[in-house]
Amino acid sequence: MGCIIPGLRDRDLKKTGISRYGFISTAEILFSDAVRKICENDTCRLYGRTWACPPAVGTVEQCRQRCLRYEKAMVFDAVYPLTDPFDYEGMTEGHGAFKKLCDRLYILVKNQLSSFLLLSNEGCNRCEACTYPEGACRMPEMLFPSLEGFGIDVASLAAKAGLTYNGGENTVTYFGMLLY
Ligand code: SF4
Repeated sequence: MGCIIPGLRDRDLKKTGISRYGFISTAEILFSDAVRKICENDTCRLYGRTWACPPAVGTVEQCRQRCLRYEKAMVFDAVYPLTDPFDYEGMTEGHGAFKKLCDRLYILVKNQLSSFLLLSNEGCNRCEACTYPEGACRMPEMLFPSLEGFGIDVASLAAKAGLTYNGGENTVTYFGMLLY
């Protein structure tokens, strides 16, 4: 697959650890109050705990408007192995690896794109204790908000970008999106 981000090559993206990627127009992104409701129910126990998740990221409409400032988006994923479908340790390891992947992607694109927004999977765990809500984020330039927290339907997003939602048996797949 060829990369259509100016100045970036397929092999540069693959070196970050990305498994697959595809491109869409930001106008195609499906925002859903039902997805936000899942956050509000605190299913992942991250609601209201960092600047990367609701309510800190604003309403779904505010998130939509923020995304629409950009014309295009690269949806990407990374697939990590599990010993079995209940391998919580493997999921946690994969999640940590995906966060590092997002850092590498940020470093790769920051000199190529004058303006971009990187959305990651779930909340931010960069600091031992988040400053939310008392103080400002310690690293706002490396704050990659949650796709789901923005109210984005990730299954629909993956399908539109030509990616399968499930990476296969005994794997966990994490998704992110680079808007530019
Ligand atoms: S970078 Fe630190 S302060 Fe900012 S959202 Fe993440 S954990 Fe919180």
